[in-house]
Amino acid sequence: MIEELRAALADRLGPEAVSTARADLAGYEQGARYGQGRAAMLIRPADTAGVAAAVRACRVAGLPIVPQGANTGLVAASTPDASGTQVVLSLERLRGPLEIDPLDRTALVGAGVRLSALNQALAPHGLCFPIDLGADPSIGGMIAANTGGARLIRHGDVRRNLLGLEVVLADGSVLDLLNRNRKNNTGIDLKQLFVGSSGALGIVTRAVVEVHPLPRQSATALLVPRAPGDVPRLIGDLEAALGDFLSACEGMSRNAMACALRHRPRLRNPFQGGLLPGYAVLIELAASCGPDVVDLQAMLENFLAPRLEDTLADAIFGRAEDLWALRHAISDSLKEEGKVIAFDIAMPRSALPAFRAAATADLARDWPWLRVCDFGHSGDGGDHFNLVWPHDAAEPFDPACVEPVRALVYDRVVRDHGGSFSAEHGVGPYNQAYYDRYTTPDRLALSGAVKQLLDPEGRLGVVRFGSPDTTDNGATP
Ligand SMILES: Cc1cc2nc3c(=O)[nH]c(=O)nc-3n(C[C@H](O)[C@H](O)[C@H](O)COP(=O)(O)OP(=O)(O)OC[C@H]3O[C@@H](n4cnc5c(N)ncnc54)[C@H](O)[C@@H]3O)c2cc1C
Repeated sequence: MIEELRAALADRLGPEAVSTARADLAGYEQGARYGQGRAAMLIRPADTAGVAAAVRACRVAGLPIVPQGANTGLVAASTPDASGTQVVLSLERLRGPLEIDPLDRTALVGAGVRLSALNQALAPHGLCFPIDLGADPSIGGMIAANTGGARLIRHGDVRRNLLGLEVVLADGSVLDLLNRNRKNNTGIDLKQLFVGSSGALGIVTRAVVEVHPLPRQSATALLVPRAPGDVPRLIGDLEAALGDFLSACEGMSRNAMACALRHRPRLRNPFQGGLLPGYAVLIELAASCGPDVVDLQAMLENFLAPRLEDTLADAIFGRAEDLWALRHAISDSLKEEGKVIAFDIAMPRSALPAFRAAATADLARDWPWLRVCDFGHSGDGGDHFNLVWPHDAAEPFDPACVEPVRALVYDRVVRDHGGSFSAEHGVGPYNQAYYDRYTTPDRLALSGAVKQLLDPEGRLGVVRFGSPDTTDNGATP
């Protein structure tokens, strides 16, 4: 049956669009960090009609579909499971046409266009798509995961910058929601259903996004609060004084910075005498006007000067590239330090210091080898509360600790602080159990009903929205 389907789709979409060869499939079966499975087939259509044809053919054959963009997702939602029965539908060839409208500040983008390619095309117009992260995802994947990133405090997530969508539904029909208006209050905003839906409700083929002027100047500093508990007040003061220009606010713990400096010897240690503080916050102001209109550097210095007598132990103005290099080096360097248990949590930002203190104390009591090396978007209440079991610890890594540690941390986040167990990476097999655990029955029921309406046979995606009593991918048995 698979061979018949492959041949039929090769006729319809072209031989380069379909494969069942193990060598071709391998690169699509492994996720960026989690997720390793086996696909029945790879389909790579080049346009919307091809996606619709592929979805219809898989439906007739009764095959489940895993949509895949750039495969940089971090919750194992873009790769097949181990059954060998799921089809990977890669959207990577949906790259055209890319239509930029500088006057309206919009771009019509194919789902397979990478963020870097969109920004390259926008730059000559003095524009950018301001979602900023350490990977190079596709626009379709960014919509399905509702990507956040380091400039969320200023520009919001993908949802906030999305104007319109084109989606292929589970029955193979094409839903045109390609709105270009910034204001359009004509009924239910259906495109929102597909944002952050992990490919479980429909397949994004094109999108209209709002784009923004490129910054013409920025001012960056590394701030050392006298105590981590002072950070929320510092951010509040920054917003009150300079909020129109604040574009990033990234927290870094001493352990996280130490790992980056240890494993990336070319990084410059910005602190006096090389002495790392307990916590530091990288802040950035940015503006699309030049220093002749507003001088961000002077504004930042004026803001910080009186605070050096008060809440701040230090403020470091290095080269922005050096300061950002330290922040960007953390995530990968932790893996070199030891076994990482990664988190992507968020809560009201005022609660972060209390959470960090309480969770650190809990962990030290029960798992003394785990080192908290957290960092993240503290301006948005986000924290990658990553834990490292160092390679050189006296005891070897104990894999049995992972689930109890995750449960402990997530319980503190969600139950004690009303926070989120997945701040920006979305829901996938990696955290499905915690979706089930923390989503209230009424939300589960409504989410399940939406899934049932849009994908009654449960063919799309690897995430189950709705009650755990439904089948693996959400449809009622
Ligand atoms: C080094 C690194 C840093 C990162 N930093 C951040 C960060 O700061 N903030 C953040 O939010 N994320 C971050 N991520 C996670 C990741 O980059 C985002 O989740 C990204 O949006 C995924 O896009 P993708 O194209 O790679 O999608 P994939 O990984 O291919 O897929 C992600 C999900 O979207 C679905 N999907 C993909 N394309 C489509 C489509 N066209 N239609 C319907 N569903 C689709 C998939 O089925 C899957 O459920 C990071 C990842 C890495 C590796």
